[in-house]
Amino acid sequence: MSFPENFTPELVVESPGRINLIGEHTDYNLGYVVPTAIEKKITFKFKRNHTDKECNLYSLGYNTGFTFQLDKIAKSNVEWENYILGVLNEILLRTDKLRGFDCTIESKLPMGSGLSSSAALECGLAFGLNELFDLGLSKMDIVLLSQKAEHTFVGTQCGIMDQFASVMSEKGHVILLDCQSLEHQQIPIQIDPYKMIMLNTKVSHNLASSEYNTRKRECEEGVAILQGHYPEVTSLRNANNEMLEVCKSEMSATIFKRCSFIINENDRVLKTANALKSNDLNLFGALLYEAHEGISKLYEVSCPESDFLVDFSKQYDAVLGARQTGGGFGGCTLNIVHKDKVDDFVEAASKAYKAAFNIELDAFEVKPSAGTYIQN
Ligand code: ADP
Ligand code: MG
Repeated sequence: MSFPENFTPELVVESPGRINLIGEHTDYNLGYVVPTAIEKKITFKFKRNHTDKECNLYSLGYNTGFTFQLDKIAKSNVEWENYILGVLNEILLRTDKLRGFDCTIESKLPMGSGLSSSAALECGLAFGLNELFDLGLSKMDIVLLSQKAEHTFVGTQCGIMDQFASVMSEKGHVILLDCQSLEHQQIPIQIDPYKMIMLNTKVSHNLASSEYNTRKRECEEGVAILQGHYPEVTSLRNANNEMLEVCKSEMSATIFKRCSFIINENDRVLKTANALKSNDLNLFGALLYEAHEGISKLYEVSCPESDFLVDFSKQYDAVLGARQTGGGFGGCTLNIVHKDKVDDFVEAASKAYKAAFNIELDAFEVKPSAGTYIQN
């Protein structure tokens, strides 16, 4: 499908990716996370095409698009189409106000790098259609239906964090989100003279979504064992290290490690939120290193490339902390680097990474940014 060249949009929506400072894999365990939207985003251009049900969607970077009918929404064999179709399916379950539209998307967000291009794709589409057809959905509806779309059409049993961060973030703030109650606090973040530097390993192991679902099941298995002793434990959010010790003999070593990571990661999130509130950047950095250790050794969702970069950063006094971010097996590492040393650090890391893996490293700064918005 080629897209009409004279496409004049009625509406332009910017839908950002996100980083999570800390709290990996805690969201589907109903714990805490500290994400924020970033400046890298997907731009959606929309217009109504005045048909009842024909929709044309084109991804410029992908150089591919497809046409579908609103009364015939079904799962596709083409993976990325399911992010779109899943959102349409959820919207149609909630309203009958949707009509035919044309849409292009153009992305500055690397895919599968742990910056949640998937949530940006889902939420930007839902946000734009809500505006275009006056669907009356709240921001929270958009977050929840986008998450549901990923469960039902894509098949990733993701938590709520990515969609929440993509839509609800505020510039200059990170969100302390309780994934159980969805209560959240916007925490102003002031890390000058440090910067948040992402190093993209450029590794996107296909393991991510299958292992993601495996980890989710392993955590559920852990909860079931804990419940035998502590009926009040309905998720790892409600468990602690003492309970885990009591149940250790009934668990495989793997289940124990998974539970131990989540319990301690939740604790680190709350400590990080306090460290950020009191501007204790050394503690923030130390917690990032600790988190990576858990990601690598206990939850086992790192990879040699991410471990290499995190270890490499430890030689630099100008780096307070680092960890792999996102679902795992590659993607980006987050590094807290003194602003005067960013160039030195990136150059040295790139050289060492190239020597070790023969991959050109990508580095970029991230700044806490606003969630999905309409471009004026
Ligand atoms: P992440 O969310 O960390 O980027 P995921 O594997 O969850 O990684 O989502 C990436 C998938 O989202 C891609 O494989 C693709 O199917 C879809 N996607 C993201 N951005 C685009 C885009 N600009 N055009 C088409 N599909 C996209
Ligand atoms: Mg994703």
